[in-house]
Amino acid sequence: MAQAMEKTGELMLDGKTFYIHTFGCQMNVNDSEHLASLLLAAGARPARNPEDSDFILVNTCAVREKSVEKLFSYLGRLKDQKERRGSVLACLGCVAQLYREKLLKKFPYLDLVAGPHQYAEVPLILKNLQEERRVLTAWEKDWTDLPIVPEARESRVSAYVTIMEGCNNFCTFCVVPYVRGREKYRPLRSILEEVRSLSDRGYLEVQLLGQNVNSYRDPETGAGLPELLARVAEISGIEWIRFITSHPRDFGPELIEAMASIRKVCHQLHLPLQSGSDRILEMMNRKYTRADYLEKIDRLKSRLPDISLSTDIIVGFPTETEEDFEQTMDLLERIRFANIFSFRYSPRPRTAASRLKDDVPEEVKIDRLVRLQTRQKEIQLELNRSLVGRTVRVLCLGASKKGNLYAGRNEGYQVVNFRSEKDVSNRMVRVRITGCGPYSLHGELADEPA
Ligand code: SAH
Ligand code: SF4
Repeated sequence: MAQAMEKTGELMLDGKTFYIHTFGCQMNVNDSEHLASLLLAAGARPARNPEDSDFILVNTCAVREKSVEKLFSYLGRLKDQKERRGSVLACLGCVAQLYREKLLKKFPYLDLVAGPHQYAEVPLILKNLQEERRVLTAWEKDWTDLPIVPEARESRVSAYVTIMEGCNNFCTFCVVPYVRGREKYRPLRSILEEVRSLSDRGYLEVQLLGQNVNSYRDPETGAGLPELLARVAEISGIEWIRFITSHPRDFGPELIEAMASIRKVCHQLHLPLQSGSDRILEMMNRKYTRADYLEKIDRLKSRLPDISLSTDIIVGFPTETEEDFEQTMDLLERIRFANIFSFRYSPRPRTAASRLKDDVPEEVKIDRLVRLQTRQKEIQLELNRSLVGRTVRVLCLGASKKGNLYAGRNEGYQVVNFRSEKDVSNRMVRVRITGCGPYSLHGELADEPA
């Protein structure tokens, strides 16, 4: 049972209600699931919206300026709701870690500001938070403080499992090392325990999470990611294993071999490129060149010809010229990603790049982003068309509101919308692909075992 209960030996939040709003990445979603589980264990109940809750908890993302702006406007809108009901309002996660003073000043009605390493303490603090506001922004995370298996999960079939947290890379644009701290690895046995328990509950897919999963090392045995994948694959019931995020510098032949030889590891990889220009990659401190990246992709494609690739790209990094950007476009053309996440550069506090002049005009950044996304959309449409007519395995994540329509993802992590006469939510099925758009595939349930 959760630590929160053991500390007091009672359901200390009995009768209270909570609402969690999550901004940001998969790790934030997983952190919110952990927090929700702790609150449930302490006796609190989830509310449908902030108006009905005693505790309004906002889990935040600091990675780009835009995400912080969105958060600030959300916190602004919560003021009235909080005051009307006298609720406790907490700002948690990465923005809390980065901007604690600024937050307290800008939003004097915040009751709690807590960074990403202290979710385990939140229930007890909420209980005691009647008079004073609190600020918690430690740098160390103690995995033993958290329940191994969060009870509250967004999906009943696909689960995020955090294996490491933090980053030692210090890419010059990135705030992550300043909010999540240095790399901390979760013990392998604790990861396996969580995955076993997920399989007992019927989960079919696990996504192993970390800012830099390639550098995973079991603190007890020194086992790396390839061995972790092999051990997770031994757990019966789990059908698909994914891992995110890989760093191109550390993505090596051993991992490619593990992906090829362990049947359950999906032939799908998210490998953030950031830029196709060597000059910019160096300024970003990414520690690889475009040739290194291409070489790794070639090796991967020759070992796993059906690999589905996705990436992150930043446009408008300081000093980026039209030629630099063309180099990025060129790699888009050569690699043919199934999906990309692309962003306009924005300077982040404390990062090395924030000391450079943000000299690419906003309209140039927008123009490059549009060109990148327009070309990528065409590539995606071409790739998706090549799947039409095939029958693929799909993990059905749920029904849509319209009758007989279901949504899921294929092994390549593409969205598949399909028709089925029977309810196949939370099951692995086969779907015959009959059509597509740039962002999704569609089809019909195939009458074959998955
Ligand atoms: N750990 C991952 C991703 C971290 S953040 C990695 O190694 O790449 C997710 C993405 O946000 C990054 O890949 C990057 O493309 C984008 N990003 C990070 N900082 C940014 C900034 N200052 N401006 C614009 N995009 C940024
Ligand atoms: Fe940020 Fe770079 Fe670490 Fe990714 S690898 S989290 S981009 S510092």
